[in-house]
Amino acid sequence: MSGQLNLVVLGKQGAGKGTQSQLLCDRHSLAHVSTGDILRAAVQAGSPLGLEVKSVLESGQLVSDDLVNKLVDDRLKEADAARGAVLDGFPRNIEQAQALERILGEGGIKLCVDIELPNELVIGRLSSRRVCQECGTIYKDTDIAAISGTCEVCGGDVVQRSDDKPEVIRQRLETFERDTLPLLSFYESRGILVKVNGDQSVEKVASDIDALLHGRGLT
Ligand code: AMP
Repeated sequence: MSGQLNLVVLGKQGAGKGTQSQLLCDRHSLAHVSTGDILRAAVQAGSPLGLEVKSVLESGQLVSDDLVNKLVDDRLKEADAARGAVLDGFPRNIEQAQALERILGEGGIKLCVDIELPNELVIGRLSSRRVCQECGTIYKDTDIAAISGTCEVCGGDVVQRSDDKPEVIRQRLETFERDTLPLLSFYESRGILVKVNGDQSVEKVASDIDALLHGRGLT
């Protein structure tokens, strides 16, 4: 696995993890592994997994570690992850981070990028976020695709995520602070944590991440 480029993208909901992860995958031919997208797709499809996790997703709590660890283990064995993957929304706590180290082996994660965003900006961003149910493309509520309800990329339905409502956003932020913040020290202690300012344009955040990857000789 040492020739692979595996990256973890951390950040609060709405910090731009999904957008930046997809850009990284496009630029470096990596697999985008978003546990949230996998779980939401299962809910939408009404699969057994979807039925199992539906109420947890709607409440803004986390689904069980065993379940997501297995999902990620299976996903990383798929062909498009041969060159590496960008992990978006996983790990969410120390147990999951340890599971990821077991899956990828020591040194398997090359860099953990933390996209920083103050809480006050999170609520505004999430409540105006709209997403294509089919391909996951993210829009703002003022974009034409959001107003018309039709995705410009695939023609799918553009909707508001049920967990992007204010009361659930608050629950998700609390979960982040309790479970996910400790991951910063976890990755810092391994010498692979870098931080970028998420309160900038998509292009500027992407170029800051690229500069950090380049600076570490990873690209
Ligand atoms: P996200 O799109 O990453 O914000 O994830 C949406 C929801 O999916 C979360 O609020 C959790 O209910 C669930 N979820 C996503 N990733 C994980 C994970 N790594 N561990 C546990 N639950 C997760």
